Amino acid sequence: MTANEIRDSFKKFFESKQHAIVPSAPMVIKDDPTLMFTNAGMNQWKDIILGTRDPEPRRRADTQKCLRVSGKHNDLEEVGHDTYHHTMFEMLGNWSFGDYFKEGAIDMAWEYLVDVLKLNPEDLYVTVFEGSPEENIPRDDEAASYWAKHVPVDHIINGNKHDNFWEMGDTGPCGPCSEIHVDSRTPEQRTASGISGRELVNKDDPQVIEIWNLVFMQFNRKADGSLEKLSMNVIDTGMGFERLVRMLQGKHSNYDTDVFQPIIKAEQQLTGLKYVTFEEEQDAPITKEQDDINVAMRVCADHLRAVSFSIADGQLPSNAKAGYVIRRILRRAVRYAYTFLGQKEGFLYKLVPTLVVEMGDAFPELKAQQQLISKVMKEEEDAFLRTLDKGIGMLSDAIDELKSQGGKELNGEKAFRLFDTYGFPLDLTELICRENGLMVNEEQFNVEMQKQKERARNAAAVENSDWTELAQGEQQFVGYDYTEYECHILRYRKVTQKKNEFYELVLDYTPFYGEMGGQVGDAGVICNEAETIEIIDSKRENNQTVHIVKQLPKDPTAQFMACVDTDKRDASAANHTATHLLDYALKQVLGDHVEQKGSFVSPDTLRFDFSHFQKVTDEELRQVERMVNDMIRQNIPLDEHREVPFDEAKKLGAIALFGEKYGDKVRVVRFGPSCEFCGGIHASSTGRIGFFKIVAESSVAAGIRRIEAKTGKECEELLYKTEDLLRVVKSFFNNAKDLQGVIRKYIEEHDTMKKEIETFQAQAVERIARQLVEKAREVNGVKVVRSVLPMEPAAAKDLAFKIRAAVEGSLLCVLGTTYQEKPQLSIMMSDDMVSEHGLNAGQMVREAAKLIQGGGGGQPHYAQAGGKNADGLSAAVDKVIELAKL
Ligand code: ATP
Ligand code: MG
Repeated sequence: MTANEIRDSFKKFFESKQHAIVPSAPMVIKDDPTLMFTNAGMNQWKDIILGTRDPEPRRRADTQKCLRVSGKHNDLEEVGHDTYHHTMFEMLGNWSFGDYFKEGAIDMAWEYLVDVLKLNPEDLYVTVFEGSPEENIPRDDEAASYWAKHVPVDHIINGNKHDNFWEMGDTGPCGPCSEIHVDSRTPEQRTASGISGRELVNKDDPQVIEIWNLVFMQFNRKADGSLEKLSMNVIDTGMGFERLVRMLQGKHSNYDTDVFQPIIKAEQQLTGLKYVTFEEEQDAPITKEQDDINVAMRVCADHLRAVSFSIADGQLPSNAKAGYVIRRILRRAVRYAYTFLGQKEGFLYKLVPTLVVEMGDAFPELKAQQQLISKVMKEEEDAFLRTLDKGIGMLSDAIDELKSQGGKELNGEKAFRLFDTYGFPLDLTELICRENGLMVNEEQFNVEMQKQKERARNAAAVENSDWTELAQGEQQFVGYDYTEYECHILRYRKVTQKKNEFYELVLDYTPFYGEMGGQVGDAGVICNEAETIEIIDSKRENNQTVHIVKQLPKDPTAQFMACVDTDKRDASAANHTATHLLDYALKQVLGDHVEQKGSFVSPDTLRFDFSHFQKVTDEELRQVERMVNDMIRQNIPLDEHREVPFDEAKKLGAIALFGEKYGDKVRVVRFGPSCEFCGGIHASSTGRIGFFKIVAESSVAAGIRRIEAKTGKECEELLYKTEDLLRVVKSFFNNAKDLQGVIRKYIEEHDTMKKEIETFQAQAVERIARQLVEKAREVNGVKVVRSVLPMEPAAAKDLAFKIRAAVEGSLLCVLGTTYQEKPQLSIMMSDDMVSEHGLNAGQMVREAAKLIQGGGGGQPHYAQAGGKNADGLSAAVDKVIELAKL
């Protein structure tokens, strides 16, 4: 079976078991402060598991794009060196939210692997949780008994807390899990080792690996560490797709399957180097050089996927957070290609077409954004290759210096600086040092690294206490219809960040919109007769609005009125609606390739990032503005559809964003021809926007442009500012009627005068030069020109050179000039003064400039110094002549 067929068979199997087949959530997570990337299939169901979202349909299955390069799951260092850990991989998963539990999950997994896919049961081993006496959790006998239906007892292995007890985080849902491992050793390997597969499970053997993990969530861990029963049992399973494909295709390395081989073939073609597969390697062992090439090709094939999928999901490489993680992955690939595949120019981007052919059908976001992905990748590669060169230069200097001093070890701080400024990974620095017989002080490097990490951690540290529950229930959001609503507090908790304390409240009914989809959260108050509590912000967490307050009400159980600050809300709504119209108009004016790549909407501004490959011209911007303002004047009413099934919404023609997570039911927002998936707050009709004006257009990254715009009242302010500016300018020109004509005339006059002055000046310099040369004294065969006069610096330089040209023999010319009360000292000499008299103008000027409280320098025959004290100028000139000792 091909990889694509295997993916389909998984979906078909679980569909036949009444699972809803759902799309993969984006790999990049945008609205969860605790997680940057999806690292497991369950991430997108966190709200359901936490009980804040409707669990229907209770059975679901999908293939999820995952990335494990940061935080709790970080496999980056393994990737390429082993053959079964990837940065980006697909996780096949099935879920039950309060439906079937352990028995159902175990039976289905077995049926799929053995009955459907025909894996050999003798190669399969399963693990169960051995229990934890100190936490009072018994061995998972239940799971073991269900497994015993399918496998002999000696294929069931007890596992410890590390491998067989799964936790969502420090707190929250958790429970025992059961893993399925496959012994994929060749018969020769089995005979040679004489060890049974059972003994190699969870021992990091590259041929006995875990493929599927079945998690049985049945507990909730509280902040004090204790466990309580979860209100709804959850099945969460995850199977590594690339590993499964490898087992079914009878391979011994994920990279030898059709998931990676097309990419590796392309790499071989581009580099002219060979990749040696596992089978080929069995016939003849490979050299160290070939192994380096193998690793590098695996790294590039893997990282290509991670970076491409992340760009397609809207996360571009950048300097911070998730963007920096992506940049690091890309740089890791570039450096492997540079060092081991001899690629001194961008390389990865050339592999994008192959990736799109292979995966573009299963993941259309790749196909749709191929041009953007290639472009961003190429630019990033080029940029890093430039610093790679510079970094290598800096490192060679350091190595030379070290060698000349007879040192053996490169300072770790230097290695860190290379890492920090040139993005040089430590292993690259070490590699280059090793080639020169040197080592790197890793300890010092780690100390610097640790310091940096602590700086980052201290800045971000947030501490949450447990929620205090006042009442049961889910929150209802009523903000699409109301801005004031009666409510109670369901629960609250204290949050500490950088020594600041505040509280987060969850209300039973709330009109407050929590920050989401680029629109800032509502502010306002909750109040009753006894008190008024200000809500400074609201954000979105686990599908709910969380309200942020500085203090708790005296009686948190009382009834309140929740009131949104409607001035701010209306202004945000108008800006959000304007953003939709802008998106529509951009597509009309620039073309269908325009894809939203980011947006920010607040009461006073809006910002919209989109894919487009050149600057938007002034003419195009005007067209866009006119189109948006036309739609504003048509006063198109908001046409809103809530709870529309996803597929129906697509049929309505609504625009969905790549990299955005949508539920089963979505909201569609339509203003005439503009129709989008959107959960935001909008104006009731376009007329409320008032007026729309673009204030800036710029580039944010390769292939991504940004437009900033203002609406309504902010435009009024803008207009007044422009008007005021114009009024001031007019007053400069006596309120002339034809302002443009008058200004143009002034400019022309100015240009003519400038030219005339320049001519006069040149003539004056010529004349002065002649006079000074005529007046020059001769001391021991040297013509000495000395003068103190007012003159502009550029003219002084000109004068010095003219004098040098006019004097044939030895010359010492010292000029003290003043311009706008600032003194300047210039020395000009003939070449023989340097070569035969041993004089140096630079040194002399520095010494003499002390008398004008200044400093300077220059060449041996010509130097200048500026200063502060014009009164000392004459003395400084004499000092120079004295220093010449003629
Ligand atoms: P391992 O011990 O092999 O790193 P894990 O315990 O980290 O695996 P889980 O977190 O249980 O794995 O993830 C579920 C499944 O996802 C695994 O059984 C495996 O098949 C797959 N998987 C996990 N990490 C990776 C990875 N980095 N690359 C490819 N597949 C992976
Ligand atoms: Mg792992």
